[in-house]
Amino acid sequence: AALVRRRARSWLRWGGAVAVVEGFEEGCATPVGRLRQVVDAMAVEMYAGLASDGGSKLKMLLTFVDTLPDGDEDGIYYALDLGATTCQVLRIQLGGGGSKIINHKVEQHQIPQELASSTSEELFDFISLTLKEFVEREENGINQVLDERKELGFTFSFPIRQLSISSGVLIKWTKGFAIEDVVGKDVSRCLEEAMSRNGLNMRVGALVNDTVGTLALGHYYDKDTVAAVIIGTGTNACYVERSDALIKSQGLLTNSGGMVVNMEWGNFWSAHLPKTSYDIALDDESPNRNEQGFEKMISGMYLGEIVRRVLHRIAEESDIFGESADHLSVPFILRTSLMAAMHEDDSPNLREVGRILEEQFQMPGISLKARMLVVRVCDIVTRRAARLTAAGIIGILKKIGRDGISGVASGRAKGKPKRSVVAIERGLYTNYSMFREYMNEAITDILGEEIAQNVVLRVAEDGSGIGAALLIATYSSKR
Ligand code: BGC
Ligand code: MG
Repeated sequence: AALVRRRARSWLRWGGAVAVVEGFEEGCATPVGRLRQVVDAMAVEMYAGLASDGGSKLKMLLTFVDTLPDGDEDGIYYALDLGATTCQVLRIQLGGGGSKIINHKVEQHQIPQELASSTSEELFDFISLTLKEFVEREENGINQVLDERKELGFTFSFPIRQLSISSGVLIKWTKGFAIEDVVGKDVSRCLEEAMSRNGLNMRVGALVNDTVGTLALGHYYDKDTVAAVIIGTGTNACYVERSDALIKSQGLLTNSGGMVVNMEWGNFWSAHLPKTSYDIALDDESPNRNEQGFEKMISGMYLGEIVRRVLHRIAEESDIFGESADHLSVPFILRTSLMAAMHEDDSPNLREVGRILEEQFQMPGISLKARMLVVRVCDIVTRRAARLTAAGIIGILKKIGRDGISGVASGRAKGKPKRSVVAIERGLYTNYSMFREYMNEAITDILGEEIAQNVVLRVAEDGSGIGAALLIATYSSKR
């Protein structure tokens, strides 16, 4: 009788775990009908954000980039790419006449975590010194670079209100950065001051968002590239818009009749997004509550954390993780890279999942059934993220009349949609094949097989930094 009771109890507890996962899965559902609503909402918000400042949660920031590299550029250029966790310095040598990068060197440096909440001076001193050392090494210590002032491409992956192609003020931080004295300042000026403090004779010639750099590199190789998407620690997109659609800046003339718009889509929000109680709790406890709602559902900073929250709930509602699930209560302890490793575990009996749970969370001896449940949670979170990203991309294509579905649209030959290339970059897409697969699948779900064939996602490796250097080349040849 005791055994029967014990079995019944354990079954009930198992049932508790399954109920948590099923409830979560239901909340995350992204049937194609809902994805289409997200597509429409994205397009509608784009119009609203272009109509007036503050007209939408989408900031739709002007970049002043009205010409994209086309392959004819030549010369040697430097760029500095400040991301959320790393700072890259790079140098490229272009051969002109047909998209030839003769030489390129990228050096990646970790950003010490304490810098993310230090002072403006500390942050900019750190990156300018990193750059200085690199430039001096590259120029063989001749210090020639100090005699002749060079122009630098500066990739700054946070929302900037651009004042010109080479300057702009920080609107707010994202991705866990919090250096309050930079907000409202011109970050190019901050960097230039730090460079001169540290004896580096350079000025910022182009200040660009990482998406804009990625678009520039994409366009360098393929002229059908119309948009770029980053899905890394954070997420964002930019695209080429017609000048006459930039209602909020009427009268602004551009050389090409178009301009790249930095959407800051991480802050997108719509009632159609499948939000669960876990998303709400994550947002409530975040330092930027009510902001970056889309980013919190789809980017690398958060996916592991959402999974962690669901697993923690399971541990509360059941005993399938045994007695020692305390670690699951620690925020952000599950990094997205580990979550992806568990999700894609193809070892026999999910041995790798077991190992990660044991080593990272001190949860030894988790049963196979429980390990399978963990994988299912990872799958739900990633699938939702990938499908929403796909819907966002199609929202952009819809806005510019390239989704092959919407009515009379600009520049589209009747019936047959144009080939549209979307440059894409960062870990979630490049290193996570399940994410990639789910994204491509969703694009086909939404557009149908035939039209989806005209949408090409193309990785632009290191585009955020290389693209900034390319833009220096493009603009200096025009000056
Ligand atoms: C920032 C964007 C950036 C994106 C990807 C977001 O958090 O607001 O400016 O492009 O992350 O790095
Ligand atoms: Mg970056």
